[in-house]
Amino acid sequence: MVGATTWGPASMAERGQAMRGPRSLLRQIREAMAGGGPAQQRLDRVVQIIAVSMVAEVCSIYLRRASADMELFATEGLKREAVHVTRMKPGEGLVGEVMRLNRPINLSEAPLHPSFSYHPETGEDPYHSFMGVPLLRGGRSVGVLVVQNRTARVYGEDEVEDLQTIAMVLAEMVASGELVGLDELKDVELAPHRPERLRGLKFAEGLALGTAVLHEAPVAPEKLLADDAGEEEQRLHQATHVLRQQIDNMLEGHHGLVGQTIDVLEAYRMFAHDRGWNRSLEDAVRSGLTAEAAVERVRSEQRARMAQARDAYLRERLHDLEDLADRLLRILAGEAPGSRELPDDAILIARNLGPADLLEYDRSKLKGLLLEEGSTASHASIVARALGIPCVGRLSGLRDRVSTGDAVIVDGEIGEAFLRPRPDIIEAFKSRSAVRALRRAELDRLRDTPAFTRDGAKITLLMNAGLAVDLENLDLTGAEGIGLFRTEFQFMVAEELPRLDAQTALYARVLDAAGDRSVVFRTLDLGGDKVLPYLKAEREDNPALGWRAVRMGLDRPALMRMQLRALISAARGRELRVMFPLVASVDEFRQARLLVDREIAWALRRGRPIPAVVRVGVMIETPALLWHLDALLPMTDFVSVGTNDLMQYLFAADRGNPRVSDRYDLLSPPALRALNTISEACAETGTPVSICGELAGRPLEAFALIGLGFSRLSMPPAGIGPVKAMVLSLDREAARRGLAQTLRGAGGSARSEIESLARKLNVAV
Ligand code: PEP
Ligand code: MG
Repeated sequence: MVGATTWGPASMAERGQAMRGPRSLLRQIREAMAGGGPAQQRLDRVVQIIAVSMVAEVCSIYLRRASADMELFATEGLKREAVHVTRMKPGEGLVGEVMRLNRPINLSEAPLHPSFSYHPETGEDPYHSFMGVPLLRGGRSVGVLVVQNRTARVYGEDEVEDLQTIAMVLAEMVASGELVGLDELKDVELAPHRPERLRGLKFAEGLALGTAVLHEAPVAPEKLLADDAGEEEQRLHQATHVLRQQIDNMLEGHHGLVGQTIDVLEAYRMFAHDRGWNRSLEDAVRSGLTAEAAVERVRSEQRARMAQARDAYLRERLHDLEDLADRLLRILAGEAPGSRELPDDAILIARNLGPADLLEYDRSKLKGLLLEEGSTASHASIVARALGIPCVGRLSGLRDRVSTGDAVIVDGEIGEAFLRPRPDIIEAFKSRSAVRALRRAELDRLRDTPAFTRDGAKITLLMNAGLAVDLENLDLTGAEGIGLFRTEFQFMVAEELPRLDAQTALYARVLDAAGDRSVVFRTLDLGGDKVLPYLKAEREDNPALGWRAVRMGLDRPALMRMQLRALISAARGRELRVMFPLVASVDEFRQARLLVDREIAWALRRGRPIPAVVRVGVMIETPALLWHLDALLPMTDFVSVGTNDLMQYLFAADRGNPRVSDRYDLLSPPALRALNTISEACAETGTPVSICGELAGRPLEAFALIGLGFSRLSMPPAGIGPVKAMVLSLDREAARRGLAQTLRGAGGSARSEIESLARKLNVAV
């Protein structure tokens, strides 16, 4: 019967010996290592020592070959001839099962287990009990250490733990070439080495090939075995003390605030004081490991366990626990936070990045970013886009599949990552990049060419921005101004609410950088998916339809007034253009406009300088406004169409949900007609109008927009070159006539008609 315990008669006294923990065993292993000789000889000696010490008749080591097969590398007790002969397919047998599960298997009757597989050449018939533990390195199994006994016995919990400690030490020794010859080592899979292709989501456009660097990379312990256990225990205590202090300090810095950051820090604090975690660490040190090796041992096990957890919340907490262990390793290594050296072509690998993390790296060396989690609206993606660094996210299992130093490709055009790509993939990638670079160079040459259509119509190309790092794109792209400055980005990348002077300073800097070029500031567009870690937000069932943007600003005017005050003060003596997001009724706009007037009056009363001109506009992002343009347009100085949101609300399709976001086409009669309504109404009333959604940066869509009569387009900086090339090849009147036709179409999409039209008119889309 599997699991029955029958103690072998002879072993009780000897067990007493083994129960003392792995310390003396580790000492013996160290002595064997010091003895010299070929690696295989040392490995043979090690399995012998373990067998004797664990009072096992068999001790074997299996390592994973590059082919993923498990191979018997050394044995005491099984037949010698089987060494380097017995091989098992991935998942085969109990050894395969230990590998698969990444955790120990302890059986009194191994042959009765459904996974048992019999290999006659090993001569393992007489052995009943089986204990296999994974050789874990950084949470991944590189092999399996097995002990077996004739008698049907269940190994005790402390025996399992001891064997796990030894397995970790052996895994490191294998990796360092001490136990396996260097020639052999090339064919042993110590870290993932096969090429892999992971599909994710594109968060920032672009292509990059470079060298993986793990953000918060685990610090590998240099020394595993302690010379003096007491001293190690003390080092561990000191380090955990520092760790707790660090967390307390971080929490104090956030006094009175709530949100995700605080939740994570609270979880850190809870774990840092967790008795179970601390006890596991202490036990590991007492067993003869250095403090670093102890942390690694506990961390490694947690990672293995984490991979098994079904519950997302639990997995998240285990992530926290793992991050904490990394922090502890860093403290033990005496590493100062943020002191990272990057290779010249670094691709940063992270679970997710917090506010400002990305900005701490040397930008000239950072070529790409891969994230396990995140979203288009997450801090990391926003900053990556602003810095022009290609970024792909939602790559599940990423950090376990890539090691620092691996070659990686970030494909921010498709939303994929290639890990350790094959040479042919690298070649294909390089030629794609070369074409892209060539095209970029061509477009760069257009930088100073004004955007006139062939029939002489001026098209104004503006860029969208949101951070100070965006500003250099003004000169780089030749944009004629900033058509949308997303002020909430400053709030989203900050650790706490930016104060009045910080807001004023940013706005003044934007205006300085723009000089004569126009800038349209959009007031805070928070809420929805743009949550601030430091502001308490109530959970909403439908955040996109919830309390966000101008709704928040009008209900809690203090924040909005502070922002308007900052804008007015920054624009002193210059023109200030400000617009409000997600307005759904003329009354909301009226109220918002009133707040601007009040702030101007406030500044005047105090004798503060005010802008030379103030223009107040509205973003058209909600369908309701389309049927009230006659009332709205006379009240406003300008409008800008936010097609990202307008499309989302027009088609009731969440823009952040990949399953539905591309389901409906902007180049379709209903969407084009909606835009046409705006274009015509603005023309009639002489209201300046621009488009500032992402699609203004796509040549075909921009072609259609110009065909509908729009002549001011604001877009992501990367769109300016391609759109300008399109404009220069365009006959606007012909485009207008053609577009009028497609508006009447009866299909769900007019894309192919518009493509044919562009081809017919020889437009460079
Ligand atoms: C839009 O909705 O089109 C827009 C430009 O605003 P945001 O993308 O910031 O919501
Ligand atoms: Mg919007």
